[in-house]
Amino acid sequence: MAKERTLGIIKPDSVEQNHVGDILGMVERSGLELQAVRMTRLSRPQAEGFYAVHSERPFFGELVDFMTRGPVVVFVAEGEGAVAAYRKLMGATNPAEADEGTIRKAFGGSIGENAVHGSDSVENAVKEVAYFFPGFELGGTAS
Ligand code: GDP
Repeated sequence: MAKERTLGIIKPDSVEQNHVGDILGMVERSGLELQAVRMTRLSRPQAEGFYAVHSERPFFGELVDFMTRGPVVVFVAEGEGAVAAYRKLMGATNPAEADEGTIRKAFGGSIGENAVHGSDSVENAVKEVAYFFPGFELGGTAS
């Protein structure tokens, strides 16, 4: 399997509940290596752009409200098959359906407020890393 990078977001519900350290710890203990970590607050245009693929979905407004209501932590994790490995660690979108040992099982509250985001393909991971860490691929610092 190839070395990959994936983009994760610790969503506002997790930050509000002080789960940042626990979640980053789960990522590290899974064998993935953190390459960049930054706390930020998404503007509405930033959240709308990030989730543009969902803009026609009925929950889009709710999703943007949620993602902009407080700080988030964005991070880049690297490892063999990192995209699928981190998706597995996150668990199902609906925390009620997430497996034991996953982040969403431990910290997700509902299908909307589900603790974390993770890129769903290698192609999207490249775009999402660039969205939050421009210049990262060139070895620049996280800005
Ligand atoms: P993911 O890849 O597992 O995060 O799931 P999706 O790409 O399908 O959805 C993106 C995000 O939209 C989810 O992580 C949720 O935060 C939100 N979402 C998905 N389905 C629903 C829903 O039915 N209601 C609400 N309020 N939010 C949803």
